[in-house]
Amino acid sequence: MKRRTFLAGLAFVPLVARAQPAMQLKDIKRMQSDWKTLLAAGTTVPSASEPLKLSKDEWRKRLPPQAYGVLREESTERAGTSPLNSEKRPGVFVCAGCGLPLFTSEMKFESGTGWPSFFTAIPGAFETKKDFHLIYPRTEYHCARCGGHHGHLFDDGPPPTNQRWCNNGVALRFIPKG
Ligand SMILES: [Zn+2]
Repeated sequence: MKRRTFLAGLAFVPLVARAQPAMQLKDIKRMQSDWKTLLAAGTTVPSASEPLKLSKDEWRKRLPPQAYGVLREESTERAGTSPLNSEKRPGVFVCAGCGLPLFTSEMKFESGTGWPSFFTAIPGAFETKKDFHLIYPRTEYHCARCGGHHGHLFDDGPPPTNQRWCNNGVALRFIPKG
């Protein structure tokens, strides 16, 4: 009897899965190619092919201290402090340093880490490097236009990408579509 109940429980799982189909790679490709549909009408954004290079002093004048610390000195904001953790409106997340579009609202997920997290990014938005600030190597990523540090890329995100782009909220600016 108990075993039958257990099996019945198992049989229920695929039905739930069918009601909410799992995301597939083609969905990710669509999000990446159609990201501009989430850009507010009339918004102009720069592209990575127009690099923004400023001196340390110029960046310091341009950015609030916290954003300067993250973007230009690779510091990390305290978990749970960014209002963007709870941002759920449709729109586009751009670099707080230079305005380059990085992620859309469709690419965001709740990771429970206290940092805004994304399972993919707008193509060409970032460059990566390995860093060894902790004992183990991590993949650091930074804005392809201004070089500003944003966060680290992990491989424990949701399928199908299994990516978790763990981003400092202070390094982002959100442009709601509406
Ligand atoms: Zn940037």
